[in-house]
Amino acid sequence: EQDLKKMEALWSVTDENSEIYSINHADGMPVEVEDMTADLLQFALTMSRQTDGALDMTLYPVLTAWGFTTGSHQVPSDETLAQKMRLVGYDKVSLSGSTVTLRPGMEIDLGAVAKGYACDIITNNLKANGVTSGIVSLGGNIQVIGKKPDGSDWQISIEHPQNGDSLGMLSAANASVVTSGAYERYFTGEDGKRYGHILDPATGQPAQSGLASVTVVGQEGKLCDALATAFFVMGLEKTQVYLEEHSGIEALIMTEQGEIYLTAGLKDKFTLNQPYQHIPVYALKP
Ligand code: ADP
Ligand code: MG
Repeated sequence: EQDLKKMEALWSVTDENSEIYSINHADGMPVEVEDMTADLLQFALTMSRQTDGALDMTLYPVLTAWGFTTGSHQVPSDETLAQKMRLVGYDKVSLSGSTVTLRPGMEIDLGAVAKGYACDIITNNLKANGVTSGIVSLGGNIQVIGKKPDGSDWQISIEHPQNGDSLGMLSAANASVVTSGAYERYFTGEDGKRYGHILDPATGQPAQSGLASVTVVGQEGKLCDALATAFFVMGLEKTQVYLEEHSGIEALIMTEQGEIYLTAGLKDKFTLNQPYQHIPVYALKP
């Protein structure tokens, strides 16, 4: 819990004493950060490259234009959006050792990866302290340690993105399970359209890749967190390509059409709940 408080104090985007706040208000000057922050930034940059920019920590000015940072939501004008988009680009972040430099006006936010990273640290500490069975849950990021005390796998409920109840159960042991979707934080514009809080860095618009929710299962929470957000932006086809090229991760995707896609490793681990057994389930990885 002490760890959690420390990480929140370092990485909060709104707390004036946080390192992220200092970076965002340095007006082009270099900022020295703690090793842990530098490590997380390095990880986020690596994942941005690996996902072709689907994940981008520099979207904060655009998130602000949509009101996702304050709660007073609005659809920004094309002009505002174009202006804010000029401040976006992970490739413009300079990180050397533990020194971070942004261009004036640029702002970063680690919302897409910090919870997963924090989960890893907490889990590793628990394990180092002899914990062999347990569950760590941090807002949509779940990490299970070992199996249940009775020797069976943990059962994790996966939420139905549209209906809000439980879609099905995923059985897991010693794994990280992270879900991303636009169903928790979104607003409905005056045009009646739904706008979600995960943006496509290519356009600055809420991602509309045809996916309703993405669950990623793997060893590391930070990787699962990063990929859940990135896959949501990338959509089914690009996710499929990513999965063909990278091993060690499994995914469960629900499309807006209401179909489920599962990687082979989850086929026998996921069970649809009673009201949803008619939903078609397809293989995600050939
Ligand atoms: P949650 O925080 O709801 O569990 P995510 O891990 O998917 O969900 O992170 C979403 C958050 O990341 C957003 O609230 C926003 O702060 C930020 N964000 C939105 N779009 C992107 C993106 N394409 N790349 C990186 N961060 C993003
Ligand atoms: Mg994420």
